[in-house]
Amino acid sequence: MTKHIVILGAGYGGLLTALNARNFLSESDATITLVNQTPTHQIITELHRLAGGTTSEGAVALSLEKLLAGKGVDLKVATVENFDVNTKKVNLAGGETLTYDALVVGLGSKTAYFGIPGLEENSMVLKSASEANAIYKHIVDRIKAYATSHDEADATILIGGGGLTGVELVGEIVDNMPKIAREHGVNPADLKIMLVEAGPKILPVLPDHLIERATESLAKRGVEFLIGLPVTNVEGNEISLKDGRVIKANTFVWTGGVTGNPLVGESGIEVDRGRATVNEFLQSKSHPDVFVVGDSAVAFPAEEGARPYAPTAQNAWQMGELVGYNVYALLTGKSMEVFNPVNSGTLASLGRKDAVASIGGNNTSLKGMPASLMKEASNIRYLTHIKGLFGLAY
Ligand code: NAD
Repeated sequence: MTKHIVILGAGYGGLLTALNARNFLSESDATITLVNQTPTHQIITELHRLAGGTTSEGAVALSLEKLLAGKGVDLKVATVENFDVNTKKVNLAGGETLTYDALVVGLGSKTAYFGIPGLEENSMVLKSASEANAIYKHIVDRIKAYATSHDEADATILIGGGGLTGVELVGEIVDNMPKIAREHGVNPADLKIMLVEAGPKILPVLPDHLIERATESLAKRGVEFLIGLPVTNVEGNEISLKDGRVIKANTFVWTGGVTGNPLVGESGIEVDRGRATVNEFLQSKSHPDVFVVGDSAVAFPAEEGARPYAPTAQNAWQMGELVGYNVYALLTGKSMEVFNPVNSGTLASLGRKDAVASIGGNNTSLKGMPASLMKEASNIRYLTHIKGLFGLAY
């Protein structure tokens, strides 16, 4: 009998699950329904470029209909309202309910606000193409306003959080916004581009010499760093820091961290701090007919005491590919494969022409153009992969 696989979310994990499952399961073996709230697969790792105005929406939001043409995957553009892993029901906004033989959850993560008063209401975030567009438009509007208002807050752009998201975003902003300022008759020197980080350093995942390099490169172009200073309160355009100082910024983008998607925690599945716990096959520990991929899962390497895999694009992509195979194995009684991802390292872009990277198992450091090219190459590699130019092979 034909089985039904339902995949929630067409991010890196969900899309790759769908594409790879079709390498093993024919349409008479299983129907595959992929549910996503937008009609596009979004290249989240490139959103900072859209927010900074250095790439186009077409480059970061790819039509799912085109990507899935002829692949035998039913696409449903709809928002998942909730799902219940005990009754095996998925409720979509609009009233439709789906049932499944196997479920794959790839609903990503949400921005974490850590209970900081006023933060959620008074900040912008960078989690989707529409939010990236909104950030770009907002900054340009503020620069235009500054041309007549001369209000310093209009020319102040503050990024909250110095992880990879915040640093990559500030790199694009500092590269492009001076040009936009000039176009609107504003002296680029009037722009105040700042990044505030609670911890003792930005980019803590990288070695110190690369952090220094990144800081120098961005500071030289005009980024002001406020390190070791948590944001404690936000009221309108006033952002308070732990030392009592208040920054008035009409652009405030919060990149302070991510947390599990609440739909996962509410579904009845076993979770650890909002992310579903999975075994080595990426199967839910509480519900074996449910696989979880990407930021929705908390997966651990086999070694005793190891930290969980980071919620990164490269891990989500590899999880999706594996689950594409494992869902086939589960439905056909074959043995499943263990998640054992290749770690290609960490690449942080610092604007159009600079980047730092720590690559591969032996943590080789790269900086400048070689690192920028590597970042570009990893994006192209992913795009060619999902567009099927090389085909998928497991
Ligand atoms: P993150 O959690 O990695 O970084 C958030 C930063 O915000 C931290 O440095 C934290 O100290 C800081 N912060 C938290 N509270 C604060 C406060 N009150 N005031 C000031 N600063 C505060 O989040 P992210 O950068 O969005 O990254 C999320 C995940 O995505 C990570 O696993 C990251 O590796 C991955 N990612 C990877 C890339 C890449 O590979 N190039 C790019 C973006 C994100």
